[in-house]
Amino acid sequence: MIYFDNSATTAPCEAVKRAAKELFESDSFGNPGSLHKLGVAAQKQYAQSRENIAKNLGCNPSELYFTSCATESANTAIFGYLSHNKRAGKTIVSTKTEHRATLSCLEKLESEGCKVVYLPVDKTGRPTEEAVSNALSDGDCALLCLTYVNNETGARLPEDLYAKARQGKTAALYVDFVQALGKVKFDLKLCDMASFSAHKVHGPKGVGALYVNSKTRIDPYILGGGQQGGMRSGTENPFGAKLFETAINEAYENMDAAFENISAINAYLRDELTKRGCTILSPDDALPYVLNVSFPDFESETMLHCLEMYDIYVSTVSACSSKAKKVSYVLLETGVDRKLAANAVRLSFSRYNTMEEAKKFIESVDDIYEKFCVKR
Ligand code: PLP
Repeated sequence: MIYFDNSATTAPCEAVKRAAKELFESDSFGNPGSLHKLGVAAQKQYAQSRENIAKNLGCNPSELYFTSCATESANTAIFGYLSHNKRAGKTIVSTKTEHRATLSCLEKLESEGCKVVYLPVDKTGRPTEEAVSNALSDGDCALLCLTYVNNETGARLPEDLYAKARQGKTAALYVDFVQALGKVKFDLKLCDMASFSAHKVHGPKGVGALYVNSKTRIDPYILGGGQQGGMRSGTENPFGAKLFETAINEAYENMDAAFENISAINAYLRDELTKRGCTILSPDDALPYVLNVSFPDFESETMLHCLEMYDIYVSTVSACSSKAKKVSYVLLETGVDRKLAANAVRLSFSRYNTMEEAKKFIESVDDIYEKFCVKR
C-alpha cells in the first residue's frame, strides 16, 4: 500500500500503538475526577501529558485544553471568544480558504447578525498583509481567523504576516495549526487561540487540543461537570492525552530529517508530474507535505479510483467534503481554473513515505495512462 492521504488522517505510529496496548492492558483506567488513588494516578498522568505537549508547542500547560478534535477546538475558540468578549465587536475577518471547521462557524455567526469579512487570497493562498491590516482597522473587528497550513494545497502563512498586520489592533487571532503540527515549528505566542488534532500526526482519532493564551478569555463551549478548569467539561481522556503526547514527541524528534525527506519526494514528484503534462496547483513555497496536482484527461475521482487499483490512496478535495463531489472551493478561491480544479488530486505525505513509493506512484500513473489509452 502507498498511502498519500495523510492530510485526511494518518496511521498511528508504532510508538502510539505500543503505548495504546500498554495503557489499555494496565490498571490505569481511573477517572481523573475520582478521589481515590486510581483517580489521582490518572489525573497525574493527564497533567504530565499536558505538560509534555505544552513543552513541545512552546506554551504553558495551563494554556492547553484537550478536546475531541480540532473541529471542536475551532468551535470553542470562535464561539467562546465572541461570547465572552461581547464588547470586542461583531466583525470577524477570515478567508474563504479556511477549513470547514472554521467556515461553518463563521456562516452560523453571519446568520446571527455578525459581519464576516472574507479577505481575498492570491495564488499563493495568502491574503496580503495590507488587506489584513485594513480589515482589522475597523474598530468593530473582534476576531481574525486564519490557517497556518492549508490542508488542500499546503499553502502556508508567513508568521510575520499576522504579527505585523495585527500591530496596534485589538482583534484577537485564532489560527488553525492542524496541518502544521509536527511538520514545521511555529510560534504559538503570536496568536491568542489555536487548534490541533492528534489523528493528523500519527496519533489517535477523537483527540484534539485547544490553545488559549493566558491573556485571552473565552467562554466554555461544552458545559457539564466542570472538568479542565470548567473550560471543557466531560470526563477527561488520559489515554487519549498520553497517545497525543507520544505522537507529538515522535513527530518533534524526527521533524528535521522528515522535512528533508519529504522535500526531496515533493521535488521529485513535481518534476516527474510536470514532465507528464500535469499542472502543479500547490504554490511553489507550499509546505512539501501537500502536493495538489491536476492530471490531464482524468477527472479527480476517476484518477483517485484508478490509483486505488494500484493500492495507492490519495484524495480529491478534503476528506470531510469529498463525498459531496464538489470541485475544491479552496482551489477556486486561489484563482485556479475550474477545469484544472475538476482534475485535481491531493497527494499528502507523512514522515513514513519514501522515495521508492514516489517512484512507484509515477510508474503507476504511467501505467494508468497507457492502460486507459488516453491520447497524450
Ligand atoms: N483544520 C484543518 C486544516 C484540517 O485539515 C482538519 C481535518 O481535516 C480540521 C481542521 C479538522 O480536524 P478534526 O478532524 O480533528 O476535527
